[in-house]
Parts: sequence; C-alpha cells; structure tokens
Amino acid sequence: MTLGRRGFLGGLLAACGSSGTGTSSAMSRCTLHADVFVAGAGPAGFVAAIAAARCGARVTLAESLGFPGGMATAGLVGPISKFNFGGRRVVGGIAWEFVERMAALGGAITDLPKGNVPFETEVYRRVAREMLEEAGVRCLWQTQVCGEPELASDRAIRAVMLSTGGFFTRLEADRFIDCTASGAIVGHCGFGSFRSEKGAAQPLSLCFILGGVDTDKARVLVRNDNERSRNPVLRDALDKAMKAGRIRSFGGPWAVWGSTMRPGFVSVNATRTEASDVTDPMEIAEATARMRRDIPVIIDVMREADPAFRNAWLAATATISGFRECREITALHRVAAAEFMSGEAVPDAIALAAHPMDRHIAGSSAQSLTFLERPGVIPLSALVSAKCPNLLAAGGLVAAESAPFASMRVQAQCMATGQAAGVAAAFAPKEDVRSLDLVAIRRLCESHGVITGA
Ligand SMILES: Cc1cc2nc3c(=O)[nH]c(=O)nc-3n(C[C@H](O)[C@H](O)[C@H](O)COP(=O)(O)OP(=O)(O)OC[C@H]3O[C@@H](n4cnc5c(N)ncnc54)[C@H](O)[C@@H]3O)c2cc1C
Repeated sequence: MTLGRRGFLGGLLAACGSSGTGTSSAMSRCTLHADVFVAGAGPAGFVAAIAAARCGARVTLAESLGFPGGMATAGLVGPISKFNFGGRRVVGGIAWEFVERMAALGGAITDLPKGNVPFETEVYRRVAREMLEEAGVRCLWQTQVCGEPELASDRAIRAVMLSTGGFFTRLEADRFIDCTASGAIVGHCGFGSFRSEKGAAQPLSLCFILGGVDTDKARVLVRNDNERSRNPVLRDALDKAMKAGRIRSFGGPWAVWGSTMRPGFVSVNATRTEASDVTDPMEIAEATARMRRDIPVIIDVMREADPAFRNAWLAATATISGFRECREITALHRVAAAEFMSGEAVPDAIALAAHPMDRHIAGSSAQSLTFLERPGVIPLSALVSAKCPNLLAAGGLVAAESAPFASMRVQAQCMATGQAAGVAAAFAPKEDVRSLDLVAIRRLCESHGVITGA
C-alpha cells in the first residue's frame, strides 16, 4: 500500500475504497450529529463550546484528554494571563465568569493588579466541566479528532472522524471550530499552514511543579513583573550547566509565585527544546524525552544555586509538552504586527490583548519581549476560514503573524477568541460562515462582555 502525503489513515481509506478526502463511514461504529462541533477543550475550546451552547446550538465537544483546560491543566502553565491592561480589565465574558467561579471555590486569585490569575488546577478542571454541563454541551472526553475531514463538493466539512480508545465514531455537524492548537482540522485540506518558517517557531517547554520552595524568599528574588520575572541567579547557574553539557537547553527560568496559588509550590518553566512539527510523532517523542531527561538536572541545579529552592522536591510534571506555536487557520484576515501594535479599532474587533509580544527565540535560551502601548486588537475575521464554508478556529490557531500571536496566545485571550468563535458558529448562516455579519457578532460579543473597558 502506498501511503503518500495523506499518511496512514488516508492510505488505509484508499485501500478501503473511500472516495478521497475524508474518512470512511464504514470504519465508524456510528454517526453523531451536532449543530456545532468543537475540537479540543483547552481554554479556547471549552469556552467556545459554552458560548455556542448558550446561544442555543446543539454542541458536541471532543477532547483527547479526560478533562478540560489543555495547557492550563495538563501542561501545568500558570497564571492565567492576562485580563488587565494598564490596571484596567479588558477581557470579561465567560473567561471572567469562569475565574470568578474558581475564586468563589477558593481556587483562583482575581484581584492582582496586572490581571494575571493564579489558580488551582483541580478547581479549573471542575469549574470548566460544570460550566460545560450546565450549558448542555455533549462532552466526549478521551476522544480525538483524527484523519482528514470528509468534505462536500463546495469544500464544506461534512464530518470528522473521532477515535476513542482506537475505535472510530463519525461526527457530522453544520459548523466546526478547531481549538486543538495543533490544527487537527485546519491542518488538513489546505485549511491552514504553519505559523513560522521551519526552524523559526518558538521552542517547546515541559513545565513541572516543585514543592518545598521557600516562596517568600523566591518572591523577593523573583519579582513577578514582566521585566524581572526570570530569576537571574538560576539563569546563571543553568547557563553554566548547559555549557558544561549537563542540560541541552533552557529558558527563563520562570519559577514565580503566582504560577501556582499555593505557598511552597511553584510551576517551573525552564526546559526548552525545538521541534519544527509537533504533530510529527517522532519529533514530539524526541522533544518530550529530551525535556523529561533535563528536568532532574534542572532541579539539582536550582537546589544548588538558590537557597529558596534548597529543599525543593518534584511534585508533578506536565502530562503534555507545551508548544508555543504550530499551525494557524488560513482566515479571512491575518493579523500583522503593525496593525496589532497600533491598537486601532477595527469594525469586527472581538477581543483585546494585554500581554507583551513574548517571543521565545528558537535555538537559544533568549526571550524577546515587546510591550504594547495600547491593547492589541483581535478581529473576528482572523478566526473565520477563508477556504472552507463552515470552519472557524480560536486560541492557538488564530491567524496572525508570529509576533502579535506571541501576545494573543495567552489564556485569557484564547478564552475570549473561543467565546467569539462559539457565538459566531451559533449564529452563522448554515451554508457559509464567511457571509456572517462580522460586525453584528462583534456587537453581540460586546453585549456578552467579551471586550470590556475598551
Ligand atoms: C510553556 C508554556 C508556558 C505558558 N505559560 C503561560 C502562562 O503562564 N499564562 C498563560 O496564560 N498562558 C501561558 N501559555 C500559553 C497558553 O497555555 C496557551 O496558549 C493556551 O493554553 C492555548 O489555549 P488553546 O485552547 O488554544 O490550546 P491548548 O491549551 O493547547 O488546548 C488544546 C486542547 O486540544 C486538545 N487536542 C489536541 N488535539 C486534539 C485532537 N486531535 N482531538 C481532540 N482534542 C485535541 C488538547 O488535548 C488540549 O486539551 C504558555 C504556553 C506554553 C507552551
């Protein structure tokens, strides 16, 4: 069997006599139906699903892990950045409702001046799940979107194939929202492309949580602001360890109070490695193995170098490696750095970004931070496919150059784009989302508080 560019599943389907694009219904146990299908339950996806369901759509959400939160819960990244710009909150809507519900359970701190929200991972999972259930979303956990979507003659997606424990289910929907960050849907059929040139994409990091940290001391050493959040003592020690060949690379390190909300515990963002395609199984396997090998050495170095970490112990490592960029949707509009930095209002503005353009540089331990003078604007047209009549994307797949994306990739903004995509999918004309009244959706998002204080 020749597999060619379409890979294993495509080759298998060809052998099964399938007509080409898409997966074979003969392989699936059954077909499910939805008005709106959301792939991925990270910050963008779980909010997109809630938003669409609250607008009256019958929504199905599929998530390869057994819980919501994506990088926030499985990747151990924190805090949730960034709700405020210049001391004023710019993101509201479901994202703010979510963090307030976590805070009511003692699982989040929502009143820090910069609008970064430390949270408890278990509370995040619980509140996101409860909000999904309350909205009536059908959640398919441990269920992965796989293979090429099945296309109609106008290139609308008719169905996607889901795999649960290795068994297939076919899912038909009127509209699809890809929130997988890797592009499980937009990566096929020419619906998306890689955001950066090969070798230039931001590196990956695998976070871990340390207990036994003297967070009072670490707090003094590591000031929780954007300029000085990297610990200079640890950075020096890790640099020496890298030059001595003890670790392959590192970033930051960011090991600040606020990355978790527990005294004595910090989530450490220090491992770093490259992979040009995180959807290539060999590349992601090797990258993850490299970072897992570096973690015990990094902990030893931290213990030796900084009294605040002398008694640190490894409390948890992330389930999944974190990649900062992969694909993006080919959308009606791609956000350019200049327009983003100008902060100029656009008619279809659906979210505001507050985080600096925070690029981690490939092939080095460096970071480039460009602070915004005013909130960056994210337009709805950057979420709507130019190539497919019934496809949208949010979060890590928004169409933008790498620099503005390095600001809008943080969680609060991913949730905001998720909400806009959910509302748009619920109200989009069935035949073509591209004929959606973008300005009307912006007004709806405003009335739902997605943009606040603009
Ligand atoms: C190392 C690192 C540190 C970071 N630090 C911070 C920080 O401190 N604060 C902050 O706010 N942001 C931080 N970020 C950014 C933030 O975590 C992400 O940008 C954000 O989680 C993106 O949200 P998302 O929903 O688009 O994607 P993700 O969080 O990646 O979620 C995607 C979801 O889709 C699921 N999925 C993937 N493929 C499939 C499939 N085929 N079928 C079904 N489900 C699938 C995944 O399991 C996952 O749950 C960091 C990112 C990295 C990599």
